[in-house]
Amino acid sequence: MCRVPELFGSMVFNDTVMKERLTKDTYVTLKKTVQDGKALDLTVANAVAAAMKDWAVEKGVTHFTHWFQPMTGITAEKHDSFITPVDGGKVMMEFSGKELIKGEPDASSFPSGGLRATFEARGYTAWDPTSFAFIKDNVLCIPSVFCSYTGEVLDKKTPLLRSMEVMNTQALRILKLFGDMDSTRVITTVGPEQEYFLVDKALFEKRKDLKFTGRTLFGAKPPKGQELEDHYFGSIKPRVAAFMEDLDKELWKLGILAKTEHNEVAPAQHELAPIFTDTNLASDHNQLTMDTMKKVALQHGLICLLHEKPFAGVNGSGKHNNWSISTNTGKNLLDPGHTPHQNAQFLLFLSAVIKAVDEYQDLLRVSIASAANDHRLGANEAPPAIVSIFLGDELTAIMDAIDSGNLYKHRERTDMTVGVDVLPSFPKDTTDRNRTSPFAFTGNKFEFRMLGSSQSISGPNIILNTIVAEELRQFADILETAPNFTEAMDALVKKTIRDHKRIIFNGNGYEEAWVVEAEKRGLLNLKSTPEALQTFIAEKNLALFNRHRIFSSEETHSRYEITMETYTKTLNIEALTMIDMVKKEILPAANTYIKELSKTAIAVRTLIPDMACESQLNMISELSALTDSVYARTNALESVLDSAKDCKDAADCAFYFRENVFPAMVSLREAADEIEILAGEKYWPYPTYGTLLFSV
Ligand code: ADP
Ligand code: MG
Repeated sequence: MCRVPELFGSMVFNDTVMKERLTKDTYVTLKKTVQDGKALDLTVANAVAAAMKDWAVEKGVTHFTHWFQPMTGITAEKHDSFITPVDGGKVMMEFSGKELIKGEPDASSFPSGGLRATFEARGYTAWDPTSFAFIKDNVLCIPSVFCSYTGEVLDKKTPLLRSMEVMNTQALRILKLFGDMDSTRVITTVGPEQEYFLVDKALFEKRKDLKFTGRTLFGAKPPKGQELEDHYFGSIKPRVAAFMEDLDKELWKLGILAKTEHNEVAPAQHELAPIFTDTNLASDHNQLTMDTMKKVALQHGLICLLHEKPFAGVNGSGKHNNWSISTNTGKNLLDPGHTPHQNAQFLLFLSAVIKAVDEYQDLLRVSIASAANDHRLGANEAPPAIVSIFLGDELTAIMDAIDSGNLYKHRERTDMTVGVDVLPSFPKDTTDRNRTSPFAFTGNKFEFRMLGSSQSISGPNIILNTIVAEELRQFADILETAPNFTEAMDALVKKTIRDHKRIIFNGNGYEEAWVVEAEKRGLLNLKSTPEALQTFIAEKNLALFNRHRIFSSEETHSRYEITMETYTKTLNIEALTMIDMVKKEILPAANTYIKELSKTAIAVRTLIPDMACESQLNMISELSALTDSVYARTNALESVLDSAKDCKDAADCAFYFRENVFPAMVSLREAADEIEILAGEKYWPYPTYGTLLFSV
């Protein structure tokens, strides 16, 4: 194996490669254009494109693609080769600046949520030079944004970049007030911890539910699940270890800082965490990580399941979005620091986050809403659907002291006037022991834990960046005109804590008591995706997005439609898959077994006429009753699906599926799982949970 430092980033057209391969002038102009966010000059683009092409061709690459992130939540690419015809029936390899900067895929087959009906179908992709080009599967990939011809945003990257800009602008205003003139750029940073399952490919192939929907729609609980807690951090089995080794290599080649790998709570469940980086790159890298996981798994005869809830009864998979704010001078703005000055700045940013999370609980909930994630939230394995903040006892006590004007009582009694007093240093390791909180302060960053494993991290980070930037804007508006900065800041922090402390909760989020308490506090509990989504288009949220030019009202509405539709489509596919499995496989299997039992009973009676054959007869009647019940429930599911055609619009449909189709699916599954428990193993058409979960 090649040494890791040489391997790392070898497939990325990164800064080092650019310095090597571009003339100094081109390099400097490119950097400056990126920094100023200006459009790239065509001669510079031509030079960069030529260098990129030469670099890629030397590595055996023949094609390029604009790599973008449409509203499907995954990535999209359309490959074009470098060939250009020349005299004598020959070709040469060419790649122009124009091709680098702009691509023109047909936008009509990507979700647009109504934007397409009113505007032109054509779309274009444009190079995002803040993320590096890379080679994947022998194709040069150019990270790109995706818009309609009339400028409407059709992707997840553009609003993320916009939200980072907004954060930069507002955070710099605050830093100036603190006299920080050195920092010229503020970015948000993210390290997403990615959970996933690995199952044997041959077993996966035998289950239509896994193939079509990514999760098991049937399946009785195995005799052993996660109750012994012997998988978490357990020793990694050889086949999984071999997968992880190859995965690391592939990710390192792409410049992805894959760092930590371990077994997770459920059998067959694992986690990968990278070292954090800026949010745009982290988002690109997480998409690439998910993509690479699936590919490398296949090379090992495995399937990587990224679904939020592949198996009922054992933990599902999430993604922890570790998020912080940092300056280009390397300062983490969510680090408490040591002096009154640093502490004050920290408390102001912390207050902004607290106010943001309280005022926009709905948006944070919406940002992680999906049919799949609904199975996890509030199911005592993932945070509840209620958004709250964990600060830890000591930081909470400090906030209380600020609020009440009392002394902070810890090792020494301390006054807490913001901007004047020093925060008592609190040990960092006491800050991260509550794993039930959806949004936890972990010493120098926040960990947003509600994300589903398969989701793009762009959505949640667009919201986080925008809502915190909005609060910083309000703070800056007040403080910039205040006659006495320190007094104004102390008052502002006090008021913010007083007004928004209801969002702080350090207790056990899995307990029923919290649901009751949260309701008393007036916190939202948006249990399902359709319910959550309705808040997305609330007046205050449209105003927020408009003010910061993240989404126009039309764009917000289009995203609302797309997410509602995706919810309905997901449930529809699941329901149809269930019906298919029941009719084609489950009922025939049950009947074959019933027939076997009947034949046995008849044979025994023929031999020994007064034999009771109690076991066979009981099983026959139990199984027959269950098959009748499965049959009836399948009909019921078909009939509710049939009535879905009367739904009026996207929201109406989503609610209909939630309230009618979903319960019919749950009820059908219950009856079918009973049959699985009774049926002989060789009659059951699918690998069981026991087989799947302990397959690798
Ligand atoms: P755990 O949550 O399992 O205790 P760690 O505290 O080691 O794990 O970190 C989890 C993730 O948080 C890692 O991906 C790490 O890179 C990321 N992280 C650490 N510091 C920051 C930061 N300032 N901004 C964003 N992410 C960060
Ligand atoms: Mg974590």
